[in-house]
Amino acid sequence: MRTPVIAGNWKMNPTSLADAMQLALSCRETADRLPTVTTVICPPAIWLAEVRRVAGGGRLQIGAQTMHFEEKGAFTGETSPLMLAGVAEYVIIGHSERRQYDGETDERVGRKVASAVAHGLRPVAAVGERADERHAGATVAVIDRQVRAAVGGLERIARSGLVIAYEPVWAIGTGDAASGEDVQSVASQIRTILRELDPEGADEVPIQYGGSVTPDNAAEYFSQPDIDGALVGGACLKADAFAAILEAAAGGRRAS
Ligand code: PEP
Repeated sequence: MRTPVIAGNWKMNPTSLADAMQLALSCRETADRLPTVTTVICPPAIWLAEVRRVAGGGRLQIGAQTMHFEEKGAFTGETSPLMLAGVAEYVIIGHSERRQYDGETDERVGRKVASAVAHGLRPVAAVGERADERHAGATVAVIDRQVRAAVGGLERIARSGLVIAYEPVWAIGTGDAASGEDVQSVASQIRTILRELDPEGADEVPIQYGGSVTPDNAAEYFSQPDIDGALVGGACLKADAFAAILEAAAGGRRAS
């Protein structure tokens, strides 16, 4: 059985170190209370080291929101995988906001996923169709292209630590969450692609859903056979809401 992975993407929030520490400590308390779920928080890069210092050491896992694929060099504003060593276990790659605003391409996503794995980080590769692509009936084709590009640089999927987040762009931050049935259908497509590429490793990969997940709708996703967690934006900034989503994921999987 795959362990559910619930990751909170803080995006460019909160704006003070004090608030970041308060949120991180609260998430740590929840993570330690729910050992059957993997809790990941992804603060802005500038808070990563301090979050690790203050809230690390327990079950809470820490992720970066992006990284460069190169180890060093003339890449102004970027963070190298070497710099993440020791402060993060996970890194989100290819979030739709980076695809939309920062020129993240399928090709770069593939290079970043491979670089993350090579540096011992677990990549959370985000894929998902835009509203226009969905309305054009292109969801299956978009997912196929993005998933193959994301994992294309990996020698194998088995034991790579790969996580895939299915995040339909139209559902992110809109309150218009996808239905559990629709998400399961895409997650099953993703699992089939992974099985084709690596029959041994495909079943290890947690597939998350992301897009307006709340305490009210979370359980609907976690009851689907191919969904193993969530990538949470807005709701992860409220400690109580994030804890409730984690509790929904832990339902039935509490340690005895
Ligand atoms: C996200 O940004 O990855 C996300 C899923 O955001 P939200 O939960 O706010 O839709």
